[in-house]
Amino acid sequence: MLAREIREKFLKFFESKGHKILPSASLIPANDPSLLWTAAGMVPFKPYFTGAAVPEVRRVTTCQKCLRTPDIESVGRTARHHTFFEMLGNFSFGDYFKKEAITWAWEFVTEHLGISKDKLYITIYLDDDEAFDIWHNVVGVPAERITRLGKDTNFWEIGVGPCGPCSEIYVDLGPEKGCGSPDCGVACDCGRFLEIWNLVFIQFFRDEQGNYTPLEQKGIDTGMGLERVASVLQGVPSNFDTDIFREIMDYAAQILGVKYGYDEKVDVALKVIADHTRAITFAITDGALPSNEGRGYVIRRLLRRALRFGRLLDREEPFLHLVAAKVIEQMGDVYPELKEKADHTLKIIKLEEEKFRETLNQGLSMLAELMERLTQEGKKEIPGHLAFKLYDTYGFPIELTKEIAEEKGFTVDEEGFKQQMEEQRRRAREAREDVDYLSTRDAFLKQLKEELGEVTFVGYEKLSESTE
Ligand code: ATP
Ligand code: MG
Ligand code: MG
Ligand code: MG
Repeated sequence: MLAREIREKFLKFFESKGHKILPSASLIPANDPSLLWTAAGMVPFKPYFTGAAVPEVRRVTTCQKCLRTPDIESVGRTARHHTFFEMLGNFSFGDYFKKEAITWAWEFVTEHLGISKDKLYITIYLDDDEAFDIWHNVVGVPAERITRLGKDTNFWEIGVGPCGPCSEIYVDLGPEKGCGSPDCGVACDCGRFLEIWNLVFIQFFRDEQGNYTPLEQKGIDTGMGLERVASVLQGVPSNFDTDIFREIMDYAAQILGVKYGYDEKVDVALKVIADHTRAITFAITDGALPSNEGRGYVIRRLLRRALRFGRLLDREEPFLHLVAAKVIEQMGDVYPELKEKADHTLKIIKLEEEKFRETLNQGLSMLAELMERLTQEGKKEIPGHLAFKLYDTYGFPIELTKEIAEEKGFTVDEEGFKQQMEEQRRRAREAREDVDYLSTRDAFLKQLKEELGEVTFVGYEKLSESTE
C-alpha cells in the first residue's frame, strides 16, 4: 500500500466515524511562542484541550506535518526516526473516550490496514486498568501481549494542564530483527518491536502542586506515524525504504553519482540528505528562514548537516535545492503550499548552500588538522575556543563539530564553547548599548549643539515670512 493510500484510508475511516477532516496546520505553531515547531498532531488543538477555546466540532481527524529536533541525530542511525514526518491522528474534544479510541484503532489497524493480529502488541500506563479491560475483554488482546509501562513513555503531560495515560500499539517485525535476549519485548530498543500508534487519554488536570484531578470534559489525542506504517505495509526494513523516501533518495543518489543499498556510509548519507531536505523544504515553505537563532538555527543546522554528508560523498557543488525540487514535486499535490512557495523555498536553500560552501571545506580541514595535532599531544578533547572559532568563522553549528569529533573518538569542551558564546553576546550587547545611547534624543541634541554652537529659535518669524 502506497503512503498516499494509507493517508487517505486513515482520514476516510475516521470521517466514517463522524470526524471532520481538517488540513494540516503549519509547522510553525500559531499563537504559541512556547513552541518552536509543531511536533505532534495535537499541537494545533492545544487550546481545545486546555479549554482556552471552544471547537466548532468535537471530532476531528488530520494528517499533520511534524518536525522534531530532538530526533535529528537519530536520523540515519535508526530505521524509524525522521526530523520531518507526517502524523495521522484522530481527536475528541470532550466527546468520545477510551473505548471508542481503542476499538477504532484496532479496527483500523487489523481490518483496514490488514496487519495480522498475532504481530500486534500493546502498552498501557501502569495503573490504567480501564485501558487493560478494553484491550483485553472488549478487543480480545491476550493479557501477555499487554505491557504496563511507566510515566516516561506512557503518560502524557506538559507541566500544568490537561494530561493523561497513553496506550501504544507495536508491531513485531520478527525475531530476526531483534537482539535475541530473553527479556526482549516492546520496551527493548533493539528494533524488533516498532511503535506505530500512540493513543493519549486526556483525563486529568495537573495543577501547580502536582495534583491530578479528573477532568469533566475528557479528550482523545492519537498519533500514528505515516512513514512507519508504510514501512510495515510495504514489508521493507526501514522507513527509508518506503515509497516516500526511495524516490527522494534515488534522486539524490543520481545527483551524487552513488547507489543506495551497497555501502553503509553511502546509505546513511542518503538518508540524512533526504530527511533533512524534506524538513527544510517544508519549514521554509511554512515561513521559517535560516538564521543564528530559534527556528532559523534549526534550518541552518539541518541544512549544514546534510551538506556535510554530501561532502562525505565528495559533493562540493550546491545540490540540496535540486533534491528539494524533487520533494516539492513528490508532495506538492498533498501539500499545495509547497508548489505555491517553490521559487522562494528553492532560492533560499540555494543561497544558504552557497553561503556555507565557501567555509565548509576550510572548517573541515581545520578540524582534521586540529584532531591530528591533539592526537599527537595525547588529547581527546576539542578546546571550547576552537569549537567557537569553527562556529564563528566557518559557520559550523556546535552540534556538527560534536558529531564530526565523535566520529573520530573526540569530545568537545562545550562549557568552554558556551563561555565564548556568552562573551561574544556580551560584546554585542555593549556595542548595541553604545548605539542606543547615541540615538536617544538628549544625546542627539547634545551632539547637535556641540556641532552647531548655541542656536536661537527663529521658527515663528521665518515660518510667517515664507507663508505670506
Ligand atoms: P519513539 O519512541 O519511537 O521515539 P515516540 O514515543 O517519541 O516514538 P510519539 O510522541 O508517541 O512517538 O508520537 C506518536 C507517533 O508518531 C509514534 O508512535 C510514531 O509512529 C510517530 N513518530 C514519533 N516520532 C517520530 C519520528 N521522529 N519520525 C517518524 N515518526 C515518528
Ligand atoms: Mg521519540
Ligand atoms: Mg515511544
Ligand atoms: Mg509514543
